[in-house]
Amino acid sequence: MLRIQQLKSGSFLFRPFSRSLASLDASKVKITNVREHSVPKPNDQLVFGKTFTDHMLAIEWTAEKGWGVPEIQPYGPLTLDPSACVFHYGFELFEGLKAYKTSDNKITMFRPDMNMARMNKSAARICLPKFDSEELIKLMGKLIQQDKHLIPEGQGYSLYVRPTLIGTTPALGVSTPDRALLFVITSPVGPYYKTGFKAVRLEATDYATRAWPGGVGDKKLGANYAPCILPQLQAASRGYQQNLWLFGPEKNITEVGTMNVFFAFKNSATGKKELVTAPLDGTILEGVTRDSILTLARERLDPKEWEINERYFSINEVAEKAAKGELLEAFGAGTAAVVSPIKEVGWQGKDIQVPLLPGEQSGALTKQIAQWISEIQYGKVQHGNWSRVVAELD
Ligand SMILES: *Cc1c(COP(=O)(O)O)cnc(C)c1O
Repeated sequence: MLRIQQLKSGSFLFRPFSRSLASLDASKVKITNVREHSVPKPNDQLVFGKTFTDHMLAIEWTAEKGWGVPEIQPYGPLTLDPSACVFHYGFELFEGLKAYKTSDNKITMFRPDMNMARMNKSAARICLPKFDSEELIKLMGKLIQQDKHLIPEGQGYSLYVRPTLIGTTPALGVSTPDRALLFVITSPVGPYYKTGFKAVRLEATDYATRAWPGGVGDKKLGANYAPCILPQLQAASRGYQQNLWLFGPEKNITEVGTMNVFFAFKNSATGKKELVTAPLDGTILEGVTRDSILTLARERLDPKEWEINERYFSINEVAEKAAKGELLEAFGAGTAAVVSPIKEVGWQGKDIQVPLLPGEQSGALTKQIAQWISEIQYGKVQHGNWSRVVAELD
């Protein structure tokens, strides 16, 4: 026994396990510029997520050394071993957030600390390395600074930022990755709805399940998204743009497509209104937009008029309330569209009608909330540290 221990401790002399692992350090960044900056596309030619900027950020991690030197380099293909664990076992997670050119000529991001915290939670869940959130925010700032001429200007225009973390261990054994790559790419984007809102039709979906208790539906893992495309095609074949995901025998409403979802009701007996969204019980993605809407609604809606609730509610409750004239509005909430008004929900062969303002594509509250968030994102209104300056326009 003693000898084995001695041997083990002896081997420590030759294998420097005790050396501390390098943490993510933005000050070490190495920048390789493109030879020639590209020319920005005209705003009207921007299609969501199809155009990318000149540079990307890439940082390698190994279990042996920790985080390597962050590199800002020309945008281009990755070279990976075909045995890399990302290709076989889905060691992949991502984030989505936006950078804005504000009215006072700064480049800001909206609540990036929330995205970084969520990214670290996703990483922990699939045994990929965690990192210092503030360092990655600084690095994203440096990347954006490099491509600042490509951030489109104007209401609804922004730079979509896509941080991604993958396991790159070149081995087929299913185990903890000992190599990883964190990269960030950015894409100039326009408003989700080019000509104002366009309310959507949803199919309440109980024939497929997006997420379940004890699962990973509350993490932004790539593995959660591919299985949702087939149900979306099935809904589309019946004329619906997105799935309204239901869960369990109660048929509780969870999310819509890849967005959180809000419904507004009015109690016809008391006259009191309610804004409701599903609670964070592990089956719901913890949306930054969702959190921002709840916060603003609690701060700004009159509590004598409105109740703001995170609670379970079912498609049957929505159908019943709609029949009594108590359904006021419904909308999806996420970074890409901010809010996305809903006009109809298909359920059991019928369409539940969601009221819209006369001649418009949204309800009054939906419109109000979209405006509140946009004012903060474009720097017209301050809200604590929600809008963070990450780069200068000089
Ligand atoms: C990203 C995402 C959301 C919205 O999150 P935001 O932080 O508001 O962009 C909601 N649901 C799912 C399933 C998502 O992937």
